[in-house]
Amino acid sequence: MALKTPEEFRQSIADLHLQIYMFGEKVDDYVNHPVIRPSINCIAMTYELARLPEYEDLMLATSHLTGKKVNRFTHIHQSTDDLSKKVKMQRLLGQKTGSCFQRCVGMDAINALYSVTYETDQARGTQYHERFKNYVQYLQDNDLVADGAMTDPKGDRGLAPHQQPDPDMYLHVVERRDDGIVVRGAKAHQTGACNSHEIIVMPTVAMREGDEDYAVSFSCPANAEGVTYIYGRQSCDTRKLEGNDLDIGNAQFGGQEALMVFDDVFVPWDRVFLCGEIEFSGALVERFAGFHRQSYGGCKVGVGDVLIGAAATAADMNGAAKASHIKDKLIEMTHLNETLFSCGLACSYEGVRMPAGNYQIDMLLANVCKQNITRFPYEIARLAEDIAGGLMVTMPSAQDLADEKIGPIVEKYLVGQCDTPVIDRMRILRLVENLTLGTAAVGYRTESMHGAGSPQAQRIMIARQSNINHKKELAKALAGVGKPWDKGKIKVPTAVSAD
Ligand code: SF4
Ligand code: FE
Repeated sequence: MALKTPEEFRQSIADLHLQIYMFGEKVDDYVNHPVIRPSINCIAMTYELARLPEYEDLMLATSHLTGKKVNRFTHIHQSTDDLSKKVKMQRLLGQKTGSCFQRCVGMDAINALYSVTYETDQARGTQYHERFKNYVQYLQDNDLVADGAMTDPKGDRGLAPHQQPDPDMYLHVVERRDDGIVVRGAKAHQTGACNSHEIIVMPTVAMREGDEDYAVSFSCPANAEGVTYIYGRQSCDTRKLEGNDLDIGNAQFGGQEALMVFDDVFVPWDRVFLCGEIEFSGALVERFAGFHRQSYGGCKVGVGDVLIGAAATAADMNGAAKASHIKDKLIEMTHLNETLFSCGLACSYEGVRMPAGNYQIDMLLANVCKQNITRFPYEIARLAEDIAGGLMVTMPSAQDLADEKIGPIVEKYLVGQCDTPVIDRMRILRLVENLTLGTAAVGYRTESMHGAGSPQAQRIMIARQSNINHKKELAKALAGVGKPWDKGKIKVPTAVSAD
């Protein structure tokens, strides 16, 4: 099958008849639901851009499995060039959507599993890698979206998976059969869960003895029997139900998270990629997280571009663009944003070939990238709010603007720079609100903190990768630590006269 069109993608998601709940009700026509539709538009954009010749180099790649052109979101990276193009593609999509576009988690999952299945087979004589390659080809041939599902609810953080009073706090195998396994549990905060054709489940922590049933990785169709989605709320989400675009800020695009529940789901063996090999769950977690930490050096930068552009436009529309402190704040925002991009590119250019033949990012630099992501978007958002002014959170509603009596008053007092129509000034301020406090803030702010692992997770990886001993050796060599000391060579310096 060729690459899907955006329309074919929408229809294929509708055809899955997913079990989605929102506000306590089952949502049947989810592809047209006003709260969900913007997130579907985001993934549709990954199909749309892939069809445009000007983006072909970033959006498409040549499959190492079939030699055919595939959407880069289904590609296994074959070089550092692939790795850097991935980041550039993500920046482009962030720019086009001003939102989390969700398709990256599946891409990062297949790239992590590619090397881990190979290494597991080498060490344990298992058959995971070949079946995983077949699965990747299935994703590529059908141009599918896969949700990479890692984060378990985790219950009591002080207890290992097998020690939890409720064994379902981590997703686990409840039955091993001749034809496959049966799994139970949940995955939390699942980005793009209700937009995906497939789910790729991975463990969420390194497992130890006793956790064998929890060291499981597999894929299943998103509509497999027993899979249910409970849609996550976002700040200001019900504005999407009000029927006006103005107050949303970015009515076209948005992110999506859900709690994904597995209630005794059957998985055939040809879709199982890890089952009981506890020593490989840590590597899978680290590699998936590493790839997703690289991803943020692209996607958040693209959204940052939109926010910087919105702040600069707000300054124009306020009549304040010439003030030197405004110019300086825009410079600072740009500096921070490009620093993040530099990190995303650096860990790509320093990527390494794995024994399986695929390419992986430099782990230390990917973790440094994400650590900066936990900070800089907050500062960029702070500066954007500073430039935009308080009106972005005190502005009357679209209904007031449309009202026959109140509307002219709103219009009179919301005038800014003389040539700017009030409606456009309101649109831009609502966009800043959307990105910093509204639905898109989930992706730009809190996800920057906790997505792909909370800050402490990166600090642990940075500590592990930093090779402090090598640095100590450098310092000791220069200082001469450990060399014999010849006291006899000491000369008393000639006294310097006071005048
Ligand atoms: Fe992709 Fe960024 Fe969303 Fe992750 S947070 S799925 S990298 S857009
Ligand atoms: Fe994310």
